[in-house]
Amino acid sequence: MPPSAVSLRRDRPSKQTIQLKNHILLQLTQGDRDTLLAEAECVRLPAGSTLARPGDEIASIYFPDAGVISVVSEMATGHQVAVAVVGREGLLGVGAVLSVQSYVQRLVALVESHGVRVCADRFRYVFGRSDLLRRATLDALGRRFVELTMVAACNRVHSHRQRLARWLLLITDKAGQRSLRVTHDTLAQMVGGPRHAVTVALNDLRGDGAITYRRGKIDIGKRSVLMARACECYLVQTGFSPR
Ligand SMILES: [Zn+2]
Repeated sequence: MPPSAVSLRRDRPSKQTIQLKNHILLQLTQGDRDTLLAEAECVRLPAGSTLARPGDEIASIYFPDAGVISVVSEMATGHQVAVAVVGREGLLGVGAVLSVQSYVQRLVALVESHGVRVCADRFRYVFGRSDLLRRATLDALGRRFVELTMVAACNRVHSHRQRLARWLLLITDKAGQRSLRVTHDTLAQMVGGPRHAVTVALNDLRGDGAITYRRGKIDIGKRSVLMARACECYLVQTGFSPR
């Protein structure tokens, strides 16, 4: 079995061998990874399914192996705004090592996703003894911090079309696919605007040849055009300096 392959519980008592793709898990030594994943579970999430709700205890850490998880803030008014998306480069539930007891946002699978779930106590144990896990976790947290502060400004300054183009680029990058099945409501969450603004933005991008859009399915057409229509925040979210 290659070093990145592990056998994990799926439907007890059977086990399933998976090829790890999560960048954080792949950075660990074999010993630390074995300890961390000793009782881990493989979790599959259909598109649209919820991984955690606001108020849920952070009892486990989730490492995506494939797919994209959206981090959605929910307001008392019912407004929902996506503030980050996490793929195989990151992890979810890291508040478990920051004295945060429960989730404050909803975690939703934007596309069909799967990953590895590790009990928070075990994560804290390995976090305390593995320099590599600490460094990789803090790097991921640093990127999340930059992303959250950027999205706050982006939602205030940039247009709905720019924001939609940015999210479409980011989600298809992380999902490794050029087409997405998403509802209008989900797009409104991503953009942080009303449904009619999403309709206008979609029509603009379709008119430019950046995308095709039919019955809830978006296909990326001319990616170079989509990049030209996205705001500079896309480069920040992907780790490049815009200047
Ligand atoms: Zn922006």
